[in-house]
Amino acid sequence: MSRLSRQKGIILEFPDNGHKKVNSFRSNKGISERLLQKLLENSRNCGLEGIIPFAVEKIDVAEWVRLKCQFGCCQYGTNWCCPPASPDLEKTNAVLKEYSLALLLIGSRQCKNFYLSNARRRAEQVRSWKEVVGIERKLFLEGYDKAISLVSGACALCRKCTYPEACRFPRERRPPIEAFSIDLIGTLKNLGIATPVAQQTIDTFRYYAIILLQ
Ligand code: SF4
Repeated sequence: MSRLSRQKGIILEFPDNGHKKVNSFRSNKGISERLLQKLLENSRNCGLEGIIPFAVEKIDVAEWVRLKCQFGCCQYGTNWCCPPASPDLEKTNAVLKEYSLALLLIGSRQCKNFYLSNARRRAEQVRSWKEVVGIERKLFLEGYDKAISLVSGACALCRKCTYPEACRFPRERRPPIEAFSIDLIGTLKNLGIATPVAQQTIDTFRYYAIILLQ
């Protein structure tokens, strides 16, 4: 059996897929609790603790965020995912206008790993990057074709970024939240989420990623 569809005088014929559920692109309105639960369950063993859907209008963007990248971060001008290679504020605002829904992903790590071992810190960062981009891919397959991740921290896929030479993994890289001029703390406040500051190396700190969805 097949289905017929008429478009501008042309007859298109589609193979019948029986009763199999079709995940049609951009047919989704919002995101279901069931899908969020499934994504979280599959990612818990990677350290993810929560996924919160929210309206994109809650995202705070500001010029000062880029200023902090430029004056105070060693990644500035050395990484394809960071300023000046990442979109400026004007471009970011234009991009955000094309989205209405986003997901906030919350995980936690230990400070002692952050400060004591560059190799371990990088390994943990790449692990959390993989989990976020994995979720982005699952969402794409669920019909969210606009899904794109903003991750935690500058791209660490290579031990040393090739910038300004060609990127080794252009399909895999994703920008950190701050490289999009997003005020993460301000955005969390808008969402009513308290952000404890990790002050001791024995403290556990939270990291965040955002997936722009639709
Ligand atoms: S994948 Fe490698 S070369 Fe590309 S942005 Fe990341 S660290 Fe740089």
